[in-house]
Amino acid sequence: APKDNHYPTAELQALDAAHHIHPFSDSAAMRARGARVITQADGVWLTDSEGNRILDGMAGLWCVNIGYGREELAEAAARQMRQLPFYNTFFMTTHPPAVALSAKLAEIAPGDLNRVFYAGSGSEANDTNIRLVRHYWHAMGKPEKRTIIARKNAYHGSTMGGASLGGMGAMHAQGGLPIPDIVHIDQPHWWAEGDDLSPEEFGRARARQLEEMIDRLGEGTVAAFIAEPIQGAGGVIIPPESYWPEISRICREREILLIADEVICGFGRTGHWFGSQHFGIDPDIMTIAKGLSSGYQPIGGSIIRESVAEVIEASGEFFHGYTYSSHPVAAAVALENIRILGEEGIIDRVREDTAPYMAQKWATLAEHPMVGEARMVGLMGALELTPDKAARAAFANEGTVGLMTRERCFANGLVMRHVGDKMIISPPLVITHEEIDRLIELAWQSLDEGM
Ligand code: PLP
Repeated sequence: APKDNHYPTAELQALDAAHHIHPFSDSAAMRARGARVITQADGVWLTDSEGNRILDGMAGLWCVNIGYGREELAEAAARQMRQLPFYNTFFMTTHPPAVALSAKLAEIAPGDLNRVFYAGSGSEANDTNIRLVRHYWHAMGKPEKRTIIARKNAYHGSTMGGASLGGMGAMHAQGGLPIPDIVHIDQPHWWAEGDDLSPEEFGRARARQLEEMIDRLGEGTVAAFIAEPIQGAGGVIIPPESYWPEISRICREREILLIADEVICGFGRTGHWFGSQHFGIDPDIMTIAKGLSSGYQPIGGSIIRESVAEVIEASGEFFHGYTYSSHPVAAAVALENIRILGEEGIIDRVREDTAPYMAQKWATLAEHPMVGEARMVGLMGALELTPDKAARAAFANEGTVGLMTRERCFANGLVMRHVGDKMIISPPLVITHEEIDRLIELAWQSLDEGM
């Protein structure tokens, strides 16, 4: 192998095709032309193996909140690797990065969300949540409270637990999912499913499905409801204002734990530390990952309400944990990432400046003949592509136009993701006005080329 893995592009692509199974990729299509090789990145810009620069409108996988190329994070990792590259917090041990990160997360998390259980990813953290809420109700003397209600088209990860909580039909079809005692209600996607209702009426109606499901199952059997404050991978489904207050009321009145999956919405994406703060949600548990370390290290976790954690702790040993729960290098990097997000005012700038600027520019895309809606909260947004705006119609061959638009964006130097025929944007939080202008220009150009 050549030094530093610097193979020529064609050779890389051939070796890749021969030996590497890609997550969520159409292998046949990719092999036909070779995967695009990304070699480095800085700020919001990726560079490929041919030297092309690409504006990363997805912050990697909605995770590089702080932008690429921050030396401080590399240094935090190197420092920690030299001092203590690995130790765990099993069996009554601990280490400084785990302690410091936990204290910091308790400080920035709302209310009495003061205890953290770590995982290596968002999927693992949601698996923790399944076990944790069931164990909680067991410890409370109500072991029959086991069922978790989630939402169709939600994404909560790829493990058996995470994919079961998620409501992705394509994933369920491939793995015999969901696992038992997980059920799904409809998403609050007004544009596609709202029919003649106003957004607010629709939001309330969708929230009330939670109550109807609890009644159908029997209140004594339901452990928790899990949802992303804004559904991300499902297509940036921004709920109507009426939705979250109604969900919160139902969880409170019906004695159901509320889990906010903040894997995408957390760490500044909505202009607050957590998406729950944007919507006034008061969750019992928050799932975190991605922006926690800005993707520089794999780390996830659950931030748990003190009163819930106390019940778990009082019931003896919780037989649960991952080798990389509270990994010291990942924790040190996350801590440095949080310090920078806070001290540099990055999240405040998103809320007060970048998001309003981007929202205004993004809204102009709704004037394009192919765009039925351009929605955005903070720095996450979507375009609904449609053949007929007035009818809010779907394309016959769902996903084809979206895929072609994504491909044109990528060729033109912009990463936008497609979910069916929705185009998704979620850039690094450090994007400048000038870069936003460029992003909008590239999006227009890519849409126009599809006409
Ligand atoms: N939850 C949400 C809301 C996500 O968007 C994701 C990943 O996209 C996950 C959980 C799973 O996280 P991971 O891919 O780190 O396992």
